[in-house]
Amino acid sequence: MKLVLRISLTLLFYLLLNVPVYGQESPTEKRQKMISEQLIPRGISDRETLKAMGRIPREAFVPVSQKPYAYDDRPLPIGDGQTISQPFMVAFMTQALRLKKSDRVLEIGTGSGYQAAVLSQIVDTVYTIEIIPSLAERASRHLKNLNIDNVQIRNGDGYFGWEEKSPFDAIIVTAGAETIPPVLVEQLSEDGIMIIPVGPHRGVRQLIKLTKKKGKIKTKSLMDVRFVPFVRNR
Ligand code: SAH
Repeated sequence: MKLVLRISLTLLFYLLLNVPVYGQESPTEKRQKMISEQLIPRGISDRETLKAMGRIPREAFVPVSQKPYAYDDRPLPIGDGQTISQPFMVAFMTQALRLKKSDRVLEIGTGSGYQAAVLSQIVDTVYTIEIIPSLAERASRHLKNLNIDNVQIRNGDGYFGWEEKSPFDAIIVTAGAETIPPVLVEQLSEDGIMIIPVGPHRGVRQLIKLTKKKGKIKTKSLMDVRFVPFVRNR
């Protein structure tokens, strides 16, 4: 009798675990909602960006405690005092890079690996640099779990870019810098686009779009933003 009870309880437990509670949305549904409520109404229209945002499971890049909030309209903590940007910011920066399939992209600030995963759906190869070793390792695991194999992660200071792999058609910096690192401008290819938050330490920064045309550099401010700081000398 005891055994029967134990088996029934175990079965009930698994049933409760597996049957979605009425009204609970699946991650796919949450992503669709994120796209229709947070991205499209705010001007994200690039099809590749929307497709990539609809494909990458954001919950796979955040700590267990944050999973219920993975699709919230805000940044989330990812450990080591760092954050994953709000979905809109990830989409906005991705769209601003005007990516083509054949582009070589460099990201500075791998963090959780989410932004790199989104980029990986649009271009052939993504190179990304993270200064905190534990984050670089975790990001690498997140990408591997999803069988994403076109992202190369390096642990180091992104201030110096990745010379061996340069030039890059697009560079995206996901930490707030006080000035634009000159080496990154050098590693940007002709007709390349760089998106970087620039401004005073811990203050409101400007999201800058930098373009290189016939060797000439142009910058334009796209909007006010807040980002965790771009750090040096760890
Ligand atoms: N793009 C990330 C979020 C980035 S948060 C994501 O999708 O999850 C910013 C990241 O930049 C942090 O992980 C921080 O450690 C990293 N960072 C800050 N300064 C850096 C530097 N000089 N070089 C490389 N990474 C840096």
